[in-house]
Amino acid sequence: MNRLFCVIPCYNEQEVLPETSERLRQKMESLIVKGKISEDSRVVFVNDGSRDSTWEIIQKLHEENPLFQGINLSKNMGHQNALLAGLMTAKDMCDVAISMDADLQDDINAIDEMIDKFIDGADIVYGVRSKRATDTFFKRVTAENFYKLMDYLGAKTVYNHADYRLMSRRALMDLSQFGEVNLFLRGIVPMIGYKSEVVYYERAERFAGESKYPLGKMLSFAVQGITSLSTKPIKMITSLGFFIFFVSIVVLIYSLVRHYTGHTIPGWTTTVLSVWAIGGLIMISLGVIGEYIGKIYLETKNRPRFIIENYLADAKDKGIFDKHTHR
Ligand code: UDP
Ligand code: MG
Repeated sequence: MNRLFCVIPCYNEQEVLPETSERLRQKMESLIVKGKISEDSRVVFVNDGSRDSTWEIIQKLHEENPLFQGINLSKNMGHQNALLAGLMTAKDMCDVAISMDADLQDDINAIDEMIDKFIDGADIVYGVRSKRATDTFFKRVTAENFYKLMDYLGAKTVYNHADYRLMSRRALMDLSQFGEVNLFLRGIVPMIGYKSEVVYYERAERFAGESKYPLGKMLSFAVQGITSLSTKPIKMITSLGFFIFFVSIVVLIYSLVRHYTGHTIPGWTTTVLSVWAIGGLIMISLGVIGEYIGKIYLETKNRPRFIIENYLADAKDKGIFDKHTHR
């Protein structure tokens, strides 16, 4: 029988946790009754250094019902790292894991279909939003264009899929071999391979609380995604360099012709404009290269990607957990 672990990263989610945990409890129980998952399946909440009472709520849930487990990270490590902490803990105990956000934007009912596809032999099942009617216009447009840009830049991701997905134990084991510090899970998971499937669902509004991804964080997430999956921006700089070199040859010929035909003009405007234009391009190019060098710098340090302060679980799981090193 399949032991399912649902992994939920939580950052300041006190408003939604009571409802999320209740709905997950019902869902897990119905799956157990239907015989699709084993009775010792679990829901693991990963507290990502919340400043509100999120961890207290998780502790209480665990005390009341062994279905709920908790991982407390030593500080806020970011959504992707929190998710990884949960998945890397789960991989040693579960047969299959599903990751989802705490805010109930992902339709819990898609879990049934995910499990069915897993039983039918899929190792990875992606939850894909069929529409984003409830997202704000701004969020929808920025997010959808982000997926298109990623694709154009050669970073393969599943269109309109975030981090709501099912992964089999062996896919998790393989994921653990991707040691990158600059983590962009939705780009790495497709690299694992195996048979994968897609489940469509409608994205709902956040149940309560507000988004933990304000514009600034969203943009840096986008830059992270592109630069950690693709080197195309650097190649584009090279092409740009060639293009400018070509233009400069044309300009050289043009100015020599002007010079020898005696048409030399003061030319202040063109000089100043070109200095600024070229200067700007050089700065942008250096910035892009710097982005990659920064990434290389961080990767070479090989720092742990998350630090678990505390794992709340029954003795058996805790024993398994203690045997493994988690980074
Ligand atoms: N989250 C996290 N650490 C962070 C930021 C977010 O664990 O530093 C969690 C958050 O609690 C939620 C999920 O990541 O479960 C997605 O965040 P959110 O729903 O705010 O993002 P949005 O749906 O607005 O893009
Ligand atoms: Mg959300």
